Amino acid sequence: MANEQDNQLKKVISHAKEYGFIFPSSEIYDGLSAVYDYGQNGAELKNNIKEYWWKFMTQMHDNIVGIDAAIFMHPTTWKASGHVDAFNDPMVDNKDSKKRYRADVLIEDAIGKMEEKIAKEVEKAAKRFGESFDKDMFVKTNPRVAEYQKKIDETNDRLKTAMSSGNMEAMKQLIIDLEINDPISGTKNWTDVRQFNLMFSTEMGSVADDANKIYLRPETAQGIFVNFLNVQKTGRMKIPFGIAQIGKAFRNEIVARQFIFRMREFEQMEMQFFVKPGTEMEWYEHWKQTRMKWHKALGLGNDNYRFHDHLNLAHYANAACDIQFNFPMGFKELEGIHSRTDFDLKSHEKFSGKKLQYFDVESNQNYVPYVVETSVGLDRLFLSILSNSLKEEKLASAEGEEGNERVVLSIPPALAPYKIAVLPLVKKDGLDEKAKSIADDLRSSFRCYYEEKDTIGKRYRRMDAIGTPYCITIDHQTLQDNTVTLRDRDTMKQERVAIAALKDKVSESVSLTGLLQSIK
Ligand code: ATP
Repeated sequence: MANEQDNQLKKVISHAKEYGFIFPSSEIYDGLSAVYDYGQNGAELKNNIKEYWWKFMTQMHDNIVGIDAAIFMHPTTWKASGHVDAFNDPMVDNKDSKKRYRADVLIEDAIGKMEEKIAKEVEKAAKRFGESFDKDMFVKTNPRVAEYQKKIDETNDRLKTAMSSGNMEAMKQLIIDLEINDPISGTKNWTDVRQFNLMFSTEMGSVADDANKIYLRPETAQGIFVNFLNVQKTGRMKIPFGIAQIGKAFRNEIVARQFIFRMREFEQMEMQFFVKPGTEMEWYEHWKQTRMKWHKALGLGNDNYRFHDHLNLAHYANAACDIQFNFPMGFKELEGIHSRTDFDLKSHEKFSGKKLQYFDVESNQNYVPYVVETSVGLDRLFLSILSNSLKEEKLASAEGEEGNERVVLSIPPALAPYKIAVLPLVKKDGLDEKAKSIADDLRSSFRCYYEEKDTIGKRYRRMDAIGTPYCITIDHQTLQDNTVTLRDRDTMKQERVAIAALKDKVSESVSLTGLLQSIK
């Protein structure tokens, strides 16, 4: 990771801790690797993100309903889903640094470097040729680019074959042939590549002999598949329809070094959309576009998102892509969109002996539906929002502002932990009582932060740092004419507003309804 990116991630981690967003789990015992707790502000932000997703899925689509399935499931579920046999990551250790890596990630990173080289050649040529530059032509004809591209294609092919056949020797050979160095020790002293199953297991039942090995679910999707008929029948759902779910998932990740990007306990927001076989590609396209719009409506910058098509398809998919986000570590997967065919339902039919089919009245036929899945990591979304919103700004001397720089968290107002801070200018002359009564009045509409300590400038700074979109200040004039100063977090502009007009004014920009309506 480049130094600048590394620094930005470090800043995000320390800000998240200092302002009550994220703490290392069981920190008094020195933490637990790749497990984190959400603090008082983090829990609010996380709940607001969930609500944005849940309402978009289940309220704005009349053919999608939500469920909440248990984390523990019958162990055969994971046989049927393929997780017992195939939910493995290939791992490799560097003998000098003693660091462990995912072999496929090392290889993908090497491919990424070759892609960067092509991008650099293109950039250089674009500068040289100016307006007359034809990028497609250049990529097709330039010998150096062609050579890189050939190597990329060959590597992708070899990676795909090795992964799908579980050939770990071929993975090791790829690492050798690509001359991959350990980023820490700089050496090529690698162990063999081994498969590692990512599921956590435990035992259910009080008597050792009767105890059954069960798993903590590694994805929420299977809870939806096993309930497909329950929901379809009781909800009288007609295909196409979706089932959504938010919940915890657990993976014993091999490498867990990127804060909440890759955790061992995390939360997923998944939706399985059941469609008629043969229509899945249309729906796959539809959900790709729809999910991208949902992300972009957050206003984190359209250029920070891109699609990445999968070349190595999972055993259950006939098409798959990621929506990647420009994290402090670079572009990485934020959400997966997968066309899962009828793999899961058919497999559950086979293992359970129960039919999981839909009767189509129009064609008078029974069939096993195909599935298009959208699956986004709640914690990764949280990180995308936090890392993109954390800014250090230089200030021109603004009235009522403290110092000449500030740290501001410009999170989308609808997701902010507090929507408004109510601040009496001084704690006397009845200003504090007036402020408390205003806060009490606003509380049924918004989460309010009341604070009377320190200078107003310092209080603004604290609110900026946790992303509160508005501050109102109660001063002596308030007592005379029932107006307050309303300060905007992003512009720092202040205006005089009647107390009676506050609710409407603030609602306009902090409501989730507004955010949902802006998805276009
Ligand atoms: P990766 O390739 O990064 O391991 P994946 O392709 O295995 O991810 P999926 O199984 O498609 O991920 O899971 C769907 C989503 O769940 C991902 O897009 C990601 O946002 C989230 N996710 C997966 N694993 C983790 C994890 N260990 N920590 C946090 N979020 C995760």
